[in-house]
Order: sequence, then structure tokens, then C-alpha cells
Amino acid sequence: MSQLLRIRWAIASAIAPRPVINCNRCGGVKPYRCSGKFRVNANGKRIDAWLIYRCTDCDNSWNRTIFERCNRRDIAPTLLAALERNDPTLVRHYGFDAVALRNRVGRIEECPEVTVRKEPLDGRPECATALWLELRLDATTPLRLDRLLAGDLGISRSRLQAWEERRLLTVEPGGAKALRRPARDGMVIRIDLSGQADRDAIVSCARG
Ligand SMILES: [Zn+2]
Repeated sequence: MSQLLRIRWAIASAIAPRPVINCNRCGGVKPYRCSGKFRVNANGKRIDAWLIYRCTDCDNSWNRTIFERCNRRDIAPTLLAALERNDPTLVRHYGFDAVALRNRVGRIEECPEVTVRKEPLDGRPECATALWLELRLDATTPLRLDRLLAGDLGISRSRLQAWEERRLLTVEPGGAKALRRPARDGMVIRIDLSGQADRDAIVSCARG
């Protein structure tokens, strides 16, 4: 009987998506990085707020509109205060919203770098013969599932592929080539380790 070890991987993108836009200072199309800062302009009762991006080549700035000509009384004071102090959670909220950014500028670059926080749920690691990994992502990432698993389990991508072919590894929701697609929030990966000699090392990597 397999002893299941369940672990949640909380995955956070390390670098905010970058709009690829025309830089009027460089004179070409360039990726702009998120500066982590807002600009708030209060003109009487009207308030504008932007998230500032900077050209990766020349540091020229581009303002991404958060809201425009908004009546002060329609903005929660806590939101305004968070904008004014460049609250990191709020920067992350807007900065990592790849869908909204793509809708705004058309073309963006997404970086595959992530940090993974591993939270054991249940099961005993010393006698685990199967892994159950639940992925939790706070934003989309272009990072392929096989690259994530290979890096964080300390094994090769070809070995993952072989496991999948032998149904020792399954992905839910799966579909063809799930390993080659980007990791997504809510994915569950199940791996049968019962026949693997280096099981302890893999379990140790999986737990972090
Ligand atoms: Zn530039």
C-alpha cells in the first residue's frame, strides 16, 4: 500500500511582467520593468494614480494608469494611503496582473523566475512511497511544469517524462503535454516513488 505524502507548493513569480512598448528616448521597442512605485496626482477633488515602469535600457519612465480623474470620495482612504506609500502588496496586485497589462499594451514579457514555499500537509516523509503536490500560484507564470518539478525535485526532465509515459506521474488537470505547459494554480501532481532508489532524496527536495 502506498504511503502518500501531501505537500503544497506556494509559488510566487519573482519578476513582474514587462510591457514591451516603444521607448521614445531609445527610439525602439523595449521591455519596461515595474519600478515598484506609484505616482499619485491629487488635483483638487480629482485624483489620478499610475504605476511607474522604466525602460530596461535607458530608465525612461512610462506611467500605467491605475485610475484617472477619479473623484476623491469614490476612493477608499485606505487605498489612497496604500498608493501613496507604495504598499508592496498593492504593487504586486497591479504589477503581476499580466492579463490587464496585456490588454493595455498588447505585448508583454513574462519572466519564469519563481520562489517556491513548501508546506507539508499530511503523510509521513520517512515512509512515503508516493508524492502528492498541490500547486498554488498567486499569478500566472510562463515557467513550464517540467522545469519547475525538475528544479525543485532535483531530477532531470527526461526522467519526469519517462515517469509520465509509465503513468508513475500524473497531472490533474492533465491533457496532452501537461508537463510542457506552464505551471498553473490548482494543479495536482502525483508521483509514485515506490520503485525509485533515490526516493529519500526526492522526498527531501519536495519538502524543501
Ligand atoms: Zn529606453
